[in-house]
Amino acid sequence: MDAVADKVAGQFELNDDQRAIREMTRGFAAERVAPYALDWDKERFFPSAIIRETGPLGLGGIYIGEDVGGSGLGRLDAVLIFEALAAACPAFASFISIHNMAAWMIDRFGDEAQRQRFLPKLTSMEWLASYALTEPGSGSDASALKTRAVRSGGNGSDYVLNGAKQFISGAGDSDVYVAMVRTGEDGPKGISTMVIPKDAPGLSFGAIESKMGWHMQSTRQVVFQDCKVPAENLLSGEGVGFKIAMAGLDGGRLNIAACSLGGAQSALDKALAYAHERQAFGRSIDQFQALQFKLADMETNLQASRMLLYSAASKLDRKAADASKWSAMAKRFVTDACFDVANDALQIHGGYGYLHDYGVEKLVRDLRVHQILEGTNEIMRVIIARHLIGQ
Ligand SMILES: Cc1cc2nc3c(=O)[nH]c(=O)nc-3n(C[C@H](O)[C@H](O)[C@H](O)COP(=O)(O)OP(=O)(O)OC[C@H]3O[C@@H](n4cnc5c(N)ncnc54)[C@H](O)[C@@H]3O)c2cc1C
Repeated sequence: MDAVADKVAGQFELNDDQRAIREMTRGFAAERVAPYALDWDKERFFPSAIIRETGPLGLGGIYIGEDVGGSGLGRLDAVLIFEALAAACPAFASFISIHNMAAWMIDRFGDEAQRQRFLPKLTSMEWLASYALTEPGSGSDASALKTRAVRSGGNGSDYVLNGAKQFISGAGDSDVYVAMVRTGEDGPKGISTMVIPKDAPGLSFGAIESKMGWHMQSTRQVVFQDCKVPAENLLSGEGVGFKIAMAGLDGGRLNIAACSLGGAQSALDKALAYAHERQAFGRSIDQFQALQFKLADMETNLQASRMLLYSAASKLDRKAADASKWSAMAKRFVTDACFDVANDALQIHGGYGYLHDYGVEKLVRDLRVHQILEGTNEIMRVIIARHLIGQ
């Protein structure tokens, strides 16, 4: 697998540092994540301590400035990291991805005081961060969000927030919430971004959702009832919050695609080993051509995913004008193709694939949501088409 991945990455000159980052992450994932991932899934356990161990490894601020404890790496580096983590557990990798996305928004759009206040604790993983855009009445149509923030206090020193965010990953466990709220008119131009600490008065969390996959991290509502947030927690002034949210998602989409890729590679590896070992009709099942063709298609789709994803990441690193379109194309293609690879791996395992202990059904469940969040794959098509027809 490595030789193939290096060859694909070779187009982007995967260097010694990138190989070393990938090896380091793989080592951590194999030792600290893979042995426990099935139990976390079964017990719906959030492994806070092990998540925080990634901070000292530099994974709490992968593409954040070194002056605030970040690693100062690029987007292709990040993709290699998430792919390696996801091979052990896509849900674990996705949580680290969301944390990085939220922290990067503070790095990129915060002023110096905000960067210094939040980022050293976020890059070290002393604090964990969540991203809060979706609301009960607005998901894909995110700019219709209704959570209202009104200036109050002496000299408008605070905002008072009322509303709710829906489906927030890490809600209740994270220490800060990078939230998009309405400070002005209807539509995208009335939206602002704020960093909201967990202990803000008036902040509470809904019940933990019971869901198909991603069991090791909680998904809950974040509820604001006359929630007081200091005005100094506003990022980049009023009215630019939608732009900030979308900028965060470009990178977030690459990361989530990388989480699919790592999970699907693991599914294919399991399927190959199983098909070689399992006997039927007097031979190992990998001797049936129908199954060989399935394996061939899985490998082809996986490598096509890898090439597209690395290309898109390299576009974002180069700040190419069409980087958003490529991020959307990669997110759409990779999360669809990799879900199919995981599902085919389950089929190759027969009835055993349906059992928890084999680890394949977890991959299918974990990867399914990647087609829905960070913008659904239908919304990815909307973005790609908009670029194509020049809207
Ligand atoms: C486990 C989980 C974790 C999540 N974590 C977070 C998080 O941490 N932070 C956060 O902010 N959000 C999070 N989300 C929310 C996620 O981003 C939204 O669910 C997603 O954006 C879709 O919104 P929706 O569920 O409201 O669906 P809707 O927007 O109601 O869409 C319903 C269907 O209509 C389709 N559709 C909508 N508009 C169009 C259109 N214009 N053209 C074609 N089809 C369209 C959609 O693709 C979808 O198939 C999470 C969701 C889940 C399930």
